[in-house]
Amino acid sequence: MSDPTRPPAPRIIAIANQKGGVGKTTTAINLSAALAEAGRRVLLVDLDPQGNASTGLGVEPADRRHTTYDLILDDVALVDVIMPTTVENLWLCPATTDLSSADMELVSNEKRSFLMHDALRQPDIDGYGFDFILIDCPPSLSLLTINAMVAADSVLVPLQAEFFALEGLSQLMLTLREVRQSANTDLRIEGVVLTMYDARNNLSQHVEADARATLGELVFRTMIPRNVRVSEAPSYALPVIAYDPSSKGSLAYRALAQELLSRHDRAIGSERIAG
Ligand code: ADP
Ligand code: MG
Repeated sequence: MSDPTRPPAPRIIAIANQKGGVGKTTTAINLSAALAEAGRRVLLVDLDPQGNASTGLGVEPADRRHTTYDLILDDVALVDVIMPTTVENLWLCPATTDLSSADMELVSNEKRSFLMHDALRQPDIDGYGFDFILIDCPPSLSLLTINAMVAADSVLVPLQAEFFALEGLSQLMLTLREVRQSANTDLRIEGVVLTMYDARNNLSQHVEADARATLGELVFRTMIPRNVRVSEAPSYALPVIAYDPSSKGSLAYRALAQELLSRHDRAIGSERIAG
């Protein structure tokens, strides 16, 4: 229910795929940075105990005073957890390994699926005027990922252009449907983005053709190429658009941000996703 006394709510996007290594964190960091570069105010929530999004944005574990764990399980206010990054317009809610015990602790919590939902809707966050909140999910369909899906307006799915890429999707879609039926009726699919795409590789082309045939317009036109600058950037604690602004990876993430912004109001259903 929207409250007329509050500013427009940020659009909350969960970046999820239960497979590891498909480009979730890379997409979370770089899409956030590209949206921020485009003038949007963005909060990136690190929901992976590995904390790679936090490290990739240059926030060392010792500097993570409060974390996503404190936010959802210790009632620490969102405004006390988030911190600015070196990227203008981009804030981070950092994670550390303490989040790895969260799943177990959530099980016995009455509000186990709604903690993130409630945490992200605290009124004192209004002053930040966030346009987007992106959530970098862990590589599982655990209660943490469920929390992200319950909190979110939409789910963005990175799909690595490799063999069996589509196989894992049905499990993800099943979870998404369950969340819709139980807790978040309006949850949409933001889109599927092909990552680590190699145009010279037949397999990449094959996966793309397959994904577009099966998922239709849910698949972003923009594809993220395999690009060494993208994989180097985190070790310099920078998004690729800051590390090497003219690299292919930078151009792709900027294009993805623009495509997402232009799709913003377009209703993309999830009807096309089969069983
Ligand atoms: P996930 O969060 O899904 O586990 P990551 O984003 O951490 O996946 O990516 C897995 C690995 O692939 C990382 O080492 C990352 O640097 C690398 N990687 C991701 N996207 C690209 C890309 N477009 N080009 C090259 N390497 C990439
Ligand atoms: Mg990750």
